[in-house]
Amino acid sequence: MQKTVLITGASRGIGAATALMAVQRGYAVAVNYRSDAAAAADVVSRIEAAGGRAVAIRADVAAETEVLHLFEETERQLGPLSALVNNAAILEPQMTLETMSAERLQRVFATNVIGSLLCAREAVKRLSTRHGGPGGAIVNVSSMAARLGSANEYVDYAASKGAIDSFTLGLAREVAADGIRVNAVRPGLIHTDMHASGGEPGRIERLKGSVPMRRGGQAEEVAAAILWLLSDEASYTTASFIEVSGGR
Ligand code: NAP
Repeated sequence: MQKTVLITGASRGIGAATALMAVQRGYAVAVNYRSDAAAAADVVSRIEAAGGRAVAIRADVAAETEVLHLFEETERQLGPLSALVNNAAILEPQMTLETMSAERLQRVFATNVIGSLLCAREAVKRLSTRHGGPGGAIVNVSSMAARLGSANEYVDYAASKGAIDSFTLGLAREVAADGIRVNAVRPGLIHTDMHASGGEPGRIERLKGSVPMRRGGQAEEVAAAILWLLSDEASYTTASFIEVSGGR
């Protein structure tokens, strides 16, 4: 039977690249997005043009009712879930902590942390062999920011990714005996629109000299690591992290 993967935030960037690569590996793909319906529809069209199966489903991962709807729709339209990629996240304009509002902190943690936990919860309910599920895999998209801290740019975002790292370890150990592997990737400086959200579209140009490989990465280079962690080739790998950061 064809495997189904749900990828949050798959309308562009790393999520979209992962969706396109997942189809090449034989998955049916649920392309989740929050606001850009046209971009999500374009990802689905590209998948269908390549002979694959995909659906776009709108849901804000920070809203519990929308997460429940996202999982129900994924299974209704594509069949039983096999895997989850917790990719959706937000980044807000660069500033020091002194000037960050409480509302901003709530927004960043609601999407990046609570959204990922809620999606993982719904995936575990469906995948766990303890509940009669088939087992499966979850990949969380963390960041090198979790290790580096993002001083003077966005310590809130970095802290949210630190939470993702702890959550990856804890959940992996919680569900390891129930047939579910949980791992994470930590991308470094990747060419996507996210840097513009932080207010500096040219950020990689400024920082690439600090990368041992002297360049930013492509979304496909992250997608390849995610797809490996999802695959049976990673069958004894759980509670692990792959850094896709050019050595940074
Ligand atoms: P991006 O280009 O900004 O794309 C973000 C995606 O997430 C979009 O599809 C967006 O959908 C979706 N999204 C945002 N908030 C959402 C919500 N509340 N519910 C559902 N979907 C939501 O980002 P990216 O660079 O590809 O980043 C993907 C992941 O990699 C994130 O976890 C990010 O933290 C991580 N990462 C990126 C880099 C980098 O250098 N780019 C480095 C380290 C880690 P809409 O457009 O529809 O809102």
